[in-house]
Amino acid sequence: MLILRRFERRVGEELRRTWIGDGSERALTCALRIACYGLLGWLSVAWAGGQAPAGAPARFVVVLDAAHGGEDGGARLGSATSDSDAPGQGGGEVEKNVTLAMSVRLRSLLMARGFQVVTTREGNVSLDADARAQIANRAVAGAGNGAACLILHATEMGSGVHLFVSSLAPTGLGTTGLGRFLPWKTAQSAYVSRSLKLAGQVNSALEHVSAGGGPITATLKRASLPGLDSMTCPAVAIEIAPIRGGDRKVLTEVTDPEYQTQVVEALAAALLEWKTDTGADLGPGSSPASSSGSGPGADKAGGRQP
Ligand SMILES: [Zn+2]
Repeated sequence: MLILRRFERRVGEELRRTWIGDGSERALTCALRIACYGLLGWLSVAWAGGQAPAGAPARFVVVLDAAHGGEDGGARLGSATSDSDAPGQGGGEVEKNVTLAMSVRLRSLLMARGFQVVTTREGNVSLDADARAQIANRAVAGAGNGAACLILHATEMGSGVHLFVSSLAPTGLGTTGLGRFLPWKTAQSAYVSRSLKLAGQVNSALEHVSAGGGPITATLKRASLPGLDSMTCPAVAIEIAPIRGGDRKVLTEVTDPEYQTQVVEALAAALLEWKTDTGADLGPGSSPASSSGSGPGADKAGGRQP
């Protein structure tokens, strides 16, 4: 913020010298702030939220992003007959409804366990990838390490649960990278190492549950995804696929309520574990068990995009 203040001061001096004269200081400061934030937005950057200010209660925020919505229904689910069914070619349920239902159920489980939860959508609305990342980044601003962002997808392709972590190279900034501006399109690079750890935690939670025909197997892939790559939090995209037997035949459909329950409960367990582990990193003076946040830090300059 120092750069912002210096910039503000310099522009202020310039304006006073040229055409402001003895105008109201307050109005000038206000106008300059707007101009500065506008400029920062134009530069297209994401603010990597630092640790909560000293004395402030530590927050632990989970962002749930139910993929698709509105016009974008996503894949057709629930009647896969072969592994090669392309998205949209099956019958049954629409992906956007499955992801929303899972988001709503996971939110309830997490809130009952004391998490602060922010969702990107609560209904059938369409949101682009940048809007989703903006919501996430505002929600986690100031949460420091106490955050996790999950993007929920569903598919007919493959088997089990697919976990995706950004393919961006880790910047190696770790927690010391927090508190600075990051390029919007690659903001996740500062969090990739922690995202991989979070994916590991989700993976081990899934190993402990089974649904219908057998255990839920999880696979981890790296991918470049627009929303995910801009998120300033440990972030994992989770794609639930049918459970298939050795002959690739579907044993359990994605639309199976029991299967969804198992996955959602495993995610809640993983996040509880994540919160406990992260709590130790939050440092002395913080209260990692505390989940009562002061609401999303929307005014703390979350990710900005022109
Ligand atoms: Zn999807």
